[in-house]
Amino acid sequence: MSDVIVVGGGAAGWAAALAAVQGGASVVLFEKLAESGGSSALSGGCLALAGTDLQAAQGVADGPDLLFKDLCEVGQHVNDAALVRTYCDAQLTTYDWLKEAGVGFSPVIETASGQSVPRVHTVDPADLVRALKAMAEQGGRVVYRSNAAVKNLLSAPDGRVTGVQLESGQELLANKSVIIASGGFAKNPEMLNQYAPQYAEAVFVAGAGSQGDGLCMATSIGADLRDMNYVKGTFGKHPTDETNDHSLQAVYKGAIAVNQDGQRFVDESISYKLLGDAVMAQPWHTGYQIMDQGIFDTGDDRVRILDFGRRLEEGLFYVGDTLEELATQIEIDADTLVATIARYNGYVEAGNDPDFGREHLVHQHGVLRKIETPPFYAYPSTAVVFGTYCGLRIDPHAHVLRADGSRIDGLFAAGEVTGGFHGAAYMTGSALGKAVVFGKIAGEAAAAS
Ligand SMILES: Cc1cc2nc3c(=O)[nH]c(=O)nc-3n(C[C@H](O)[C@H](O)[C@H](O)COP(=O)(O)OP(=O)(O)OC[C@H]3O[C@@H](n4cnc5c(N)ncnc54)[C@H](O)[C@@H]3O)c2cc1C
Repeated sequence: MSDVIVVGGGAAGWAAALAAVQGGASVVLFEKLAESGGSSALSGGCLALAGTDLQAAQGVADGPDLLFKDLCEVGQHVNDAALVRTYCDAQLTTYDWLKEAGVGFSPVIETASGQSVPRVHTVDPADLVRALKAMAEQGGRVVYRSNAAVKNLLSAPDGRVTGVQLESGQELLANKSVIIASGGFAKNPEMLNQYAPQYAEAVFVAGAGSQGDGLCMATSIGADLRDMNYVKGTFGKHPTDETNDHSLQAVYKGAIAVNQDGQRFVDESISYKLLGDAVMAQPWHTGYQIMDQGIFDTGDDRVRILDFGRRLEEGLFYVGDTLEELATQIEIDADTLVATIARYNGYVEAGNDPDFGREHLVHQHGVLRKIETPPFYAYPSTAVVFGTYCGLRIDPHAHVLRADGSRIDGLFAAGEVTGGFHGAAYMTGSALGKAVVFGKIAGEAAAAS
């Protein structure tokens, strides 16, 4: 019998396993699939961290309090402030801890959603999971079992969680606690239909194991849920591209978004999750990001969401020497598109967008650019659901809670399976950040339980 059982081997699960062994516990980690990694390993590798040495080296003044303010604003103040505070206070220590585990970070990138200063720290996401796993397994105190889906939680008569039952029927008990780190439900059509019917026509990209197993297991023994009506997709996904490639955010460099009628429909500088909601409400759930050569030239091939050149090489852009030519290609009335762009350029010149109130390129950064230098580019864009960012209600120590606020003893949860932290929307880097920060907290707490 091990001290701690971890369900799921993504970033949250391996962070929890590492922290638990460092806390003196023995651990068994069950992974449903043949390979661990989950959505974490597929991700863009962006983490929202504040006050790091990398930011200081780039002259960025940031810290836990500003991060807290931004996270609450992006979450529209419906997020659980205690969880947000815990994240903000723990993220710098977690950053150092990840570096000690061998995770390498690249310089901070500027373009992100929901951040008032640049704070996206990027890692190779598969390496992040590998490093945590290797470190956790080093002392021989972790048993890793792949192709081993957990099906049920076992409880004592007093409600305390005592272990798990695998799909094979095998039962395993834990001396101390069980940690659920089984990710979200972006690969479970029934749950998506229940909680996010507005995204029925979106593209879904996530780890194959993201089927909501942990969420269902915990609710079946009384766990409460948070944020279930805030599932959001990310704007900027090419509608026919179902690879795990990230979205494209040309809007954050100055492009505008138009719908199939050639009309703008949103302030393009807001969170790409809110842009996701906006595009899903348009005809055919699709729009186009429109830009000119001047904006195209500001693309950045080091940043996936800004890599215009690669998408052009892959034939995903429409290109026209005139706006009329571009409009014909994307089957939008040419006069309407020309008028929309002329109107927008006028707003840029006047410094006032009475239609949607756009003032910046992204969030509160950047000066708007006119769309005037040929050739002109159009990138077809719908929303993609990468994750569900809602789920089990936890307290700041990652204990799973019931609706009355009481703890389910012996049960912790971390990562995408949990709700409450993001609230109504999501800041770039906060989901992978949440996975490692709360994974570590859950592992420490479970080892001490
Ligand atoms: C393409 C893509 C890009 C993204 N980019 C970013 C980004 O740049 N920044 C960011 O903050 N967020 C990003 N996200 C979201 C973020 O990656 C995830 O929210 C986060 O990594 C989830 O981590 P996790 O450990 O909770 O879940 P996962 O990494 O999904 O791990 C869960 C694991 O549990 C396993 N599992 C499931 N059920 C069971 C079961 N019954 N028994 C045993 N094992 C089970 C799964 O197979 C999986 O391996 C992205 C997501 C995707 C898909």
